[in-house]
Amino acid sequence: MSENSKIEWTDHTFNPWIGCTRVSPGCDHCYAAVSTPARAMHVTWGTSEPRHRTARSTWKDPVKWNARHETFFAEHGRRQRVFCASLADVFPAL
Ligand code: SF4
Repeated sequence: MSENSKIEWTDHTFNPWIGCTRVSPGCDHCYAAVSTPARAMHVTWGTSEPRHRTARSTWKDPVKWNARHETFFAEHGRRQRVFCASLADVFPAL
């Protein structure tokens, strides 16, 4: 069961920025491009389009989650799972 995400297989999602580039036909129906955050922040998908950097508080989330590792591990018997860049490309083509 996820703790801070509606995605069942992860406990948290972390987006360092929002934005991506369609790279294949598999991206034709990209959920991230039409997601609520992308639309609210007017992020346009594309190689040369600027990425929207997320808040400083968002960047601190992984540190907070890591600080709770021992407690989480004791409760769940596993490490926390983090879906990194659910709305972004981790390695943008520049
Ligand atoms: S997030 Fe990027 S790589 Fe993933 S489906 Fe959307 S455009 Fe394609």
